Amino acid sequence: MNASSSRPAAWPVPTLNARDGGLWLEDLPLAEIAARFDTPTYVYSKAALESAFGAWQQALAGRRALVCYAVKANSNLGILSVFARLGAGFDIVSGGELARVLAAGGRADKVVFSGVGKTRAEMRQALEAGIRCFNVESAAELEHLNAVAGELGKLAPIALRVNPDVDPKTHPYISTGLKGNKFGVAFADAPDLYRRAAALPNLRISGVACHIGSQLLDPAPMAEAAEKVRDLVDRLAAEGIVLEHIDLGGGLGIRYRDETPPAVADYLAPLLAVFEGRKEELCFEPGRSLVGNAGLLLTRIEYLKPGETKNFAIVDAAMNDLARPALYDAWHEVVAVSPHAGEAVEYDIVGPICESGDFLARARKLAVREGDLLAILSAGAYGMTMSSNYNTRPRAAEVIVDGDRAHPVRQREAVAELFATERILP
Ligand SMILES: *Cc1c(COP(=O)(O)O)cnc(C)c1O
Repeated sequence: MNASSSRPAAWPVPTLNARDGGLWLEDLPLAEIAARFDTPTYVYSKAALESAFGAWQQALAGRRALVCYAVKANSNLGILSVFARLGAGFDIVSGGELARVLAAGGRADKVVFSGVGKTRAEMRQALEAGIRCFNVESAAELEHLNAVAGELGKLAPIALRVNPDVDPKTHPYISTGLKGNKFGVAFADAPDLYRRAAALPNLRISGVACHIGSQLLDPAPMAEAAEKVRDLVDRLAAEGIVLEHIDLGGGLGIRYRDETPPAVADYLAPLLAVFEGRKEELCFEPGRSLVGNAGLLLTRIEYLKPGETKNFAIVDAAMNDLARPALYDAWHEVVAVSPHAGEAVEYDIVGPICESGDFLARARKLAVREGDLLAILSAGAYGMTMSSNYNTRPRAAEVIVDGDRAHPVRQREAVAELFATERILP
C-alpha cells in the first residue's frame, strides 16, 4: 500500500485507505469498483483475509492445531479458495456448505460438521466425502449417524459438542453455550453420551467440541469453558475413552465501532495455557474474526430526503443485502467514498424496502450528495451469507481486491433468475 495514503485510526477495515480525495481498498479506488461492477457490491480485501488468517497461524505456531474457518460467516467460493490455499480447515453447518468447500478446493479431511439438525442425506454426503469429524449435538443424532454410517459400511468420526454453561456476555441471539439454548449437549450428560457413543459400532470417538457464542470481546469466558472441557477430557480418559482432539469453536469478536476485542494471540494465550503440555490436537472455528473486517458493502445514494425530525439518505443497498442492523441492531461504520467540502449533515442510511426496519445505519454525519458512494464497513461476515431476495431484489455482486486488481467472485443476480424455477398455474 502507498505509504503516503492516509487512514483515520477509526476505520476497522485494515486495508482501507484515503488517496487523491477518495477511498481505496488496497491499491484500487472504490469508485473504480463501483463503475465496473455497479452497486450494491460486497468488496473484500485479499490482503486483509490473509493477514487475519496469518494472525491465527502465528498465534498457534508450534502447537498441533487446525484452524477451521466457519463457512457460514461468508461462503463465497473466492473467499473459501483463499483460505483453502492457506491450509485452512472448514467448519460447516450444512451439506450445501460442504459442497461449496469442495468446489473451492478445500479438503474434506479438514472439514468439521456442526449443527443441531443434520439430515440423514447430509450425513451420507459427509461420510462419502470423508470429512474429519461430526460435531454431534444430541443423543438422537448419535443414533442417526451410527445408522447411516452402518448403511454405508463406514466409521463416522465424532466429537460431542458440549455446553459448558458459561456466559459469553454477548448478544443473546449469538450466545450459544448457556443452558436453555438448543445447541450442544448438557455438560453433565456428556460422560453418559460418550459411553453410549463408544458402544455404537459405526462411530469412532475422535474429540470434544464447544462453541459458546459469537462476537466475544473478553477471553475469560472461553478460558473458563476450556478448563471445563479439559477436565471432562481427563475424566473420560480415566475410563478409557481417549480423545484425540479438542475443538474450542469460534466466536472471537471484531471491532465494528469502538469495541476492543483482544488480538488473536491474546485471546488464545489463556486457552493455550489450559492445554499446555498436552498432546491433543486443538481445533478452532473462527468465522467473523477472519472475514468481518476484510469486507465492506459499497452502495450508492439514490435520494437525499430531508425530513422534519430526521434526514434520510436512501441508498441502493437494503436489509436484504445486509441484515445485521435490522436483525441485531448492529452498528456498521459508514464512510463517504468521495467526501465533499462543506458541512456534514446527520442522516439515517436506509434502503428502499417497505419495512421500517430497513436501515443500515442511524444518525451519521456525512457530507454527501445524491449519487455519491458510501462504504459500509466491517461487512465481510454475516453480510452476504444472510442476504435474501426480499422485495424481489437481486442479490449483490461480490469482488475480491488483490493489490490493484479486482476479481469478480460473484455476479450480480439477474431478476429473471429469481423466478426462473417458479411456474404460473395452468
Ligand atoms: C457460528 C459458529 C462459528 C463461528 O462463529 P464466529 O463468531 O463467526 O467466529 C463457529 N462454530 C460454530 C459451531 C458456529 O455455530
